Amino acid sequence: MKEVKKEIKWALWLIWLIVFPAGFYIAYHISPGTGIDWRIATSLIGLAVISAYLPFKVDHSTIFIIHWINLAAFLTYGLFFEMLLMQIVLIPLLIRAKMSLKTLYRFPLNSVMFMLISLLAGGVFYLMNIEVSSGFGPLVAASAVYIFIHIFANHIYLYGFNWLIGNRYAFMSSDTKLDYAATMLSMPFGLALYYLLQLLGPSATLLLGIPFLAVTMILRLYNTSERVNTDLAKSAKIGHQLAERLNVSEVLDLFTNKLGDLMPLDYTYVLDVHTSRDELVLLRRIENGQLEPNNLSPVRKGEGISGKVWESGSALLFNKKSEWIEEVEGYIPSDIESIICVPIQRDKRTVAVLLAASKKKNAFGTHLIAILEILCSYLAIAMQNARNYQRNVKRSERCALTGLYNFRYFNEHLEKEFDRLQKGHMNALSLILLDIDHFKKVNDTYGHESGNDLLKELAGLLIETAGKDALIARYGGEEFVLLVSGKTKKEAQMIGEKIRNTVENCTFEIQHDLSKNREMSEIKMTVSIGVASSPEDTDSSKNLLRNADRALYIGAKQKGRNKVAVYAK
Ligand code: GH3
Ligand code: MG
Ligand code: MG
Repeated sequence: MKEVKKEIKWALWLIWLIVFPAGFYIAYHISPGTGIDWRIATSLIGLAVISAYLPFKVDHSTIFIIHWINLAAFLTYGLFFEMLLMQIVLIPLLIRAKMSLKTLYRFPLNSVMFMLISLLAGGVFYLMNIEVSSGFGPLVAASAVYIFIHIFANHIYLYGFNWLIGNRYAFMSSDTKLDYAATMLSMPFGLALYYLLQLLGPSATLLLGIPFLAVTMILRLYNTSERVNTDLAKSAKIGHQLAERLNVSEVLDLFTNKLGDLMPLDYTYVLDVHTSRDELVLLRRIENGQLEPNNLSPVRKGEGISGKVWESGSALLFNKKSEWIEEVEGYIPSDIESIICVPIQRDKRTVAVLLAASKKKNAFGTHLIAILEILCSYLAIAMQNARNYQRNVKRSERCALTGLYNFRYFNEHLEKEFDRLQKGHMNALSLILLDIDHFKKVNDTYGHESGNDLLKELAGLLIETAGKDALIARYGGEEFVLLVSGKTKKEAQMIGEKIRNTVENCTFEIQHDLSKNREMSEIKMTVSIGVASSPEDTDSSKNLLRNADRALYIGAKQKGRNKVAVYAK
């Protein structure tokens, strides 16, 4: 809904000031409503007011069925009384629609609309010249015209106003059709009420009003259970789709996307429980359909809405700002009204929290809590599966000690890159093989554990020095291999030289594993490096490795170590 300009709001009040008295004046002159029995009049107004409080929602549109009551009022006491009844009913209707100070303009807007519609429909009815004595058939026809004018004029007026303020939508939606159908179908009730009022007086409103309101309530219940059913079916489908995703990020994207199909959403936040830090950390933040950075401060247990949901393990639902404003401690966009916040649980433990919000008041039905809890349990399982899968993939690809790729992964990558080279996607593919000099001595002097620490440190150094250019793997033992795609032998040699130089100038800190006090020791070390390249040296991946190995041993190790040697045929 677009914000209505101040001038339009003032214009509405001005028009209302003219139309309101004028409308009543004209109506009184056309049909003053003589002989009004105030018991009947009050019972009709009472029934209309109660009906205005009992709307029911179909999908997302709200339907009030009160036209049958004003038809009966019109037929019984004429235009003036019907106009009065509609103006009175406007008050509960607007209260029900949550009119606020900002939307106070709806009062003149609707009041003028009701007035004009009453005049139009009543005027047309009088022009048709129908009397009670004209018989049942003509009265039914005239009543149908009367009700149709009411609903049609209402539709045109609101569509026109929205069009004027730049709020464009389809003229005939399925909701509008439903509104037409429901209102037209209520006409027989209006006629029945009119006849019964003549026969029974005010009790007629009870005789027809009670079953009518009962049916309305049953329809409301039916509609709610229908919505629960469709929402459940939707969430089961989403659950299946979530289970198919093997990547945490994809799981979250799918979940947050699909959530919008279930409920009107402007803001979605998924917060992950970090057990070690005892904090809720933002995992996904979507605001007005945009993915925003996760740069909000973590939430502590019991803090704010999500912190409370984490602490209690039970959901919270707020229909408007005044309900939650006291609860909030951290960040929250100011235009939020409705909030639904549910724990995401696995094995009865809260592992994350979902907070969804809308700018509209009363945006979320209570049934959504149960639906979201089910959906969130699907999410929790899907996230765990995806995390396990990703962890296993990583484990199968990486060396446990250094975190670098393992030789198996390296080999697969080498084959793929060779393929790319052969297809002409790059000009050269080079390989750098590295072996620590006299590493046995380190183990013998400081112990195996310290040797391991050194390997880890060297792995970090390699990533720092060449991580941008190369895929780095642990070849085995204290040997490392780097694959540099798209680089010639000369370029790879320069990278090798950079590594050799960096290692030589680095002081490594290790704990003396074999000494009594396990004190920290600073040690120096050097590496020997062999470089080979394709297509320059060979056109087979196996030979590329073999050549680098030969360069390493013959050209670097045998020549005194701490050297970079390139393969020479
Ligand atoms: P050089 O290569 O200069 O000829 O001498 P070196 O002492 O490094 O000899 P070599 O490469 O033959 O020996 C490798 C040694 O590295 C043998 C073993 O003690 C050690 N080593 C291999 N893998 C590991 C490991 O995972 N952890 C530790 N701490 N040591 C390892
Ligand atoms: Mg070795
Ligand atoms: Mg060695």
